[in-house]
Parts: sequence; structure tokens; C-alpha cells
Amino acid sequence: MPAADAQNRVPMPVLSDFKGQGALYDGLLRTLEAGTYVHAYLISGASGMGKRTLARLLAQRLLCTGENKPCGACPACIQVQEGNHPDVITVTPGKPVSPEVKAGLAGIPVDEIRYVIGLVGQHTFVGGQRVVIIERAEKMNQQAQNALLKTLEEPLAGTVFLLLTESPELLLPTIVSRCRALKLHPWPDETVLRALKLRGVDEAMARQALHVSGGSIGRAIAVAADEAYWQRRRDVMQDFFGINARVEVLKVSSAWKDRKEEAEALLCDVEELLRTLLLVRCGRQDESLLADYPEPWQRFAREGELSAFMRLMDAVSEARKLRMNQVTWQAVVEQLLLSLMEEKSKWSM
Ligand SMILES: [Zn+2]
Repeated sequence: MPAADAQNRVPMPVLSDFKGQGALYDGLLRTLEAGTYVHAYLISGASGMGKRTLARLLAQRLLCTGENKPCGACPACIQVQEGNHPDVITVTPGKPVSPEVKAGLAGIPVDEIRYVIGLVGQHTFVGGQRVVIIERAEKMNQQAQNALLKTLEEPLAGTVFLLLTESPELLLPTIVSRCRALKLHPWPDETVLRALKLRGVDEAMARQALHVSGGSIGRAIAVAADEAYWQRRRDVMQDFFGINARVEVLKVSSAWKDRKEEAEALLCDVEELLRTLLLVRCGRQDESLLADYPEPWQRFAREGELSAFMRLMDAVSEARKLRMNQVTWQAVVEQLLLSLMEEKSKWSM
């Protein structure tokens, strides 16, 4: 039985939860069982996909002293879980392991990597394996990556490196080629829904959060709990998709001109709302997702031509371009409003 988090009764993830990752899981399990695992893994995937969870479970699997590794209950498993196992070194940008490196740095400097490699060269505390987890590995600068590369080329017995990143393309190709790739893919819908339900998210909200999650469990959970996100989405729906007449354009644009810091989020919301319409149009999503759209847009989602969807998507790209070219935010909003209103008017009858 997975240990339950006493506070919210959400069971701790276990290795078999990663079955939803298909071939990645099967391959990993085979090598773990055969003891043929390698000394460096590159765990990649979008934010919220489970990179840290997988790294932690792998560390538990390697250090567990119980049966059915990782048992989740032995002292080693619990120490890994709580982040205080002496033989797990976690490198995180801004929170250096080395006392010589300044805290709060955005990147991972070479001194940090050199220090960690120095630690790895010493005896382990417990006498078993050692695991080095490098979070946001792409934050290692060139020098740091080169220093790590040397160690990856001449691996130390008993040490396993787990590099985590959303952007493997920012790592030196030589680093990538020294690691075995574990690329996390978007999770199946039912897995994301189950994770949300376990956290007490109701069905309707879970469906919405799933839809904007891109298959990322972490993103779905964050969005479901993000009241500001849903409030802004309601505002966007009302102001941008609800607008009916030119006289309203100025009113809405002046309301948004002071929300400049939300500009990119707003454009993403509009894009997301348009994408939903398009997915329904293509039969890839259920019409129930349209419940809060004004009637004309629901008609548009049933009968609109694909070229019209593309025009609207282009209007959002254009808005981004205008912003970059220093056009005032209010003028950008007006332009976007006019594009949306023009299309909507064709379906308002
Ligand atoms: Zn254990």
C-alpha cells in the first residue's frame, strides 16, 4: 500500500504509477530488475510531468533497504522522500550544495558542479549507491556542463546521475549522448482526471483543468487550484468573446489597459479559448466544453470554416508582434477585440 499523506490523504506516487508512460516504464523496470541500469539518466518533459517524482522514486529504488524496492517505508526510502538522505545530493539552481557558491543564482556555476563531483569521489555515508539529482540541468553554464561531462565520461562506480530538464536541447549534445533518455510524455486523460479527483477537484473543474493541462498532471493540479486563472478566464470570456458592438471596444480596452502585466497570460487565454473551439469543430473535443461560450461562438464551433479559425489564431500572433513593436497595450487589445467581434457578428442572428 502506498503511504498516504496524512494531511490531504493523497497517496504518495509509486513507481508503478509511471506505467502510464508505456515503453519508458517497461524499459526502466527491466533494467532495474536486471540490475543493468546506467550511471546517468536524462529525465525530460514539460513542467508538471513528474520529472522530480520519477527521480525521487529512482533514488528510492537504488537506496531502499526493504523488500519490493522501493518499499516506501524503510528508513532510506523515507529519508529520500523527505529530502535528507545523506547519499542523495540534489543540485538546484539558486540553492547551492557548495558553501562557496552564492545562494540565489539563476544558473548552476562550475564551482557547484566541481564541489559535487568532489563529494561523489568520497565514500558514501551508508555504504551503498550514491545518487546525484541535478534539477533544471539546462541551467548549468557551459563550463559546468564541461566539468560534469568529464565525470560522465569516466563514471564512478556506485554513483548514478539523474539530470532533469524541460529543455534538453540546451544541454551539450555530448552530455545528452552520455545519458540514457527518459522522456516523459503527456499523461493519459484518465490519469490526469484521477489525480485531480484524489485532490477533491469536482468533475466539471477537473474536465476544464484536464483540457488546459496538455497532459501535465502538475499543471492540471496547479490550474484547478488557481482561482486567479479562472477569474481571468471568465473576464476574457466576457470581455473578448462577449463583445457585440464597436461602442464596447473602447470600454473593454480601457478596462484592460491597466492589466498590462497580464498581457501574455491574456493572449494565452484567448488562444486557449480559440483552440477549444477548433478542437470541438474537428470533433476532437466534446461540445460540453463550450457551455460558457456565448451562443454565436457555439455556432461558430459547429459550422465555422477552418480558414476563419486560422484568421483568429493569426490575430493573436499579430497581437504578440504588435506588443514586441512597442504598440501600446490598449491599441493591441482593441485590434484583437475587433478581429473577434467581426467573426462573432457573422454568427449572431
Ligand atoms: Zn525502502
